[in-house]
Amino acid sequence: MHYDATPRSRARTTICVSSQVGCPIGCSFCATGQSGFDRNLNEAEIVDQFLMASRDLGQGPGALTNVVFMGMGEPMNNYTAVVGAIRRWARSDTLNFSPRRVTISTIGLVPFMERLTAEGLPVNLAISLHAPNDELRSRLIPVNRKYPIAAITAAARAHAERTSRRISYEYVLLHDVNDSLEQARQLAALVNHRLSHVNLMISTTIRATRGLDIDAACGQLRARELQTMPSPV
Ligand code: SF4
Repeated sequence: MHYDATPRSRARTTICVSSQVGCPIGCSFCATGQSGFDRNLNEAEIVDQFLMASRDLGQGPGALTNVVFMGMGEPMNNYTAVVGAIRRWARSDTLNFSPRRVTISTIGLVPFMERLTAEGLPVNLAISLHAPNDELRSRLIPVNRKYPIAAITAAARAHAERTSRRISYEYVLLHDVNDSLEQARQLAALVNHRLSHVNLMISTTIRATRGLDIDAACGQLRARELQTMPSPV
């Protein structure tokens, strides 16, 4: 769990929560994906991340305003616990925290995106796109062979139309892999829906990657811990 309460983003304080220990998706560029999958977090463990951050941050200036599921794991792969936690945060007799302040980042597990849309839960969706065509995306993100880009963007647009929430497309710029002019044109053609927005991520930050400098970005802490643990005998 990370906090983002830097002066640059003073108006909002965002926590980044995890949905799984490890991740089974195995994206080639991701530290979490390369270190395997242990288990799903249960609903209480996800709710607790919010409660701990909320207690640490307190009320008034700097209080928690937003939650993003961009920590460890693929949230759609633990759908019931994730949606259960969001509904629990939203209950007026508990925290009264609007789902509109929650963003679920997904690699694009289409059946669960469709299920979310059918429920009408007004969360924001962030699609981890990272490539503008299926050939390249399938190399970076193997599950793209099952759920190709056209199916993912269609599901994302359906969610935006149903909920009026914005779709963010996350795109990590990888030098000489996905950053050509032609690929930029392909990307622009893909994300032309009125509620679409692209986050470009590079190491010297257009969109800041929090914690990278101290190995605390997504998956790095766990990878470091695993490296320093003694080998089983
Ligand atoms: S990028 Fe997301 S879905 Fe892919 S391996 Fe990492 S945590 Fe899992």
